[in-house]
Amino acid sequence: MNFDLNEEQLAVQKMVREFVAKEITPNAKQWDLDESFPMDLWKKMGDLGIVGTAIPEEFDGSGMDFISHAIVAEELGYGCSSMRGSYSVNISLVAKTILKWGTQEQKEKYVPRIANGEIFGCYGLTEPDSGSDAAGMKSTAEKDGDDYIISGNKMWITHADVSEVSIVFAKTDKNKGARGITGFLVEKGTPGFTPQPIHEKIGLRAQDTGELIMDGVRVPKEAMLGPEGKGFAVAMSALDNARFTVSAGCIGTAQAALDIAKTYAKERMQFGKPIAAHQLVQQLIANAVVDIETGRLLVYRAGYLKNKGVPNTRETCMAKYFCGEMVNRVVYNMMQVLGGYSFSGEYPLERMYRDSRINTLYEGTSQIQQLIIGNSELGIPAFE
Ligand SMILES: Cc1cc2nc3c(=O)[nH]c(=O)nc-3n(C[C@H](O)[C@H](O)[C@H](O)COP(=O)(O)OP(=O)(O)OC[C@H]3O[C@@H](n4cnc5c(N)ncnc54)[C@H](O)[C@@H]3O)c2cc1C
Repeated sequence: MNFDLNEEQLAVQKMVREFVAKEITPNAKQWDLDESFPMDLWKKMGDLGIVGTAIPEEFDGSGMDFISHAIVAEELGYGCSSMRGSYSVNISLVAKTILKWGTQEQKEKYVPRIANGEIFGCYGLTEPDSGSDAAGMKSTAEKDGDDYIISGNKMWITHADVSEVSIVFAKTDKNKGARGITGFLVEKGTPGFTPQPIHEKIGLRAQDTGELIMDGVRVPKEAMLGPEGKGFAVAMSALDNARFTVSAGCIGTAQAALDIAKTYAKERMQFGKPIAAHQLVQQLIANAVVDIETGRLLVYRAGYLKNKGVPNTRETCMAKYFCGEMVNRVVYNMMQVLGGYSFSGEYPLERMYRDSRINTLYEGTSQIQQLIIGNSELGIPAFE
């Protein structure tokens, strides 16, 4: 067993860490205040090869392994969770899913432009009345000659308003439950396909989130992503990748909170000594260190399995469950170290606190991760 990062992974870490420190961390507060996403910077990241990390070079990616992909998510999460979120969605939910399930034409049309930061994509699974129970979706896709007509609404879709291509799931057979769902690729501007932005989110405010209203959206059969009726498998495979990226991002945010708290604890004097010298403060720091290291090991283990190409849903869900809860715990406790000062915009902890909350809610709530892990342990199929 080897716990060391290899030379390539160390080089990626160094490069992205420097980039984040210079270009992302100093600006994250303003993006949050303005609810604006730095598209130009994203393109720059694409040119540097740190958007399409785990995308093969033939599709304009960097051909990195999953550990390097996680390292990039970690570093982005250190500086700005909205940026990390866009990385998760563009690469893990969209590009990798098209690579796995798409036709050669679909791959060539969309993946290189997502990988090089030119365009955004989104993934529309959730609906107003179906979240955890994704197979309970109401959206339909009815066959009409060589086309499909998609109708329904998607809710809480990251990049809804800024995506050139959207993966949407709809029922091609209402009587078959999860086996009646099919994935489609819908392009921006298709008649009847209308994004509706959602504002005033508690966190991830720099990142676009919205509804997708689909009112008789006509797409050709060539827009189908994967075979008809296999949409649920397409959707779950995407989540396997995205949960991994989210988990890695959580480590970065937790690490950033810990680093801020360590610096503060050594400078802040109370009762005649730095608060770092008070043992209850040390306890908060020690717990954070153990939490972060545990999360990192879980993420890297899942990445190791992904690199081997073996099933890893259980291990990825363990990482997602632990890291989603962990980052909330760590940021909360690092705010405790800063006391009242953590409660203002003077320190980024308040933004990290707001941004972290999403991690137990999306890509499957913590309860859904627990169900998958529990069912796996018990040998019960979780969701079909
Ligand atoms: C900012 C943001 C971005 C998002 N981005 C996307 C995106 O890009 N694409 C997309 O498709 N979706 C996206 N989502 C949606 C997200 O994935 C869902 O919100 C999530 O899956 C939970 O669904 P829900 O909100 O409908 O909650 P519900 O499913 O209604 O769950 C409510 C509560 O009930 C619990 N619960 C439900 N079923 C069970 C059960 N069987 N056992 C135990 N407890 C259960 C849940 O754990 C939760 O605590 C996003 C959400 C947000 C807030």
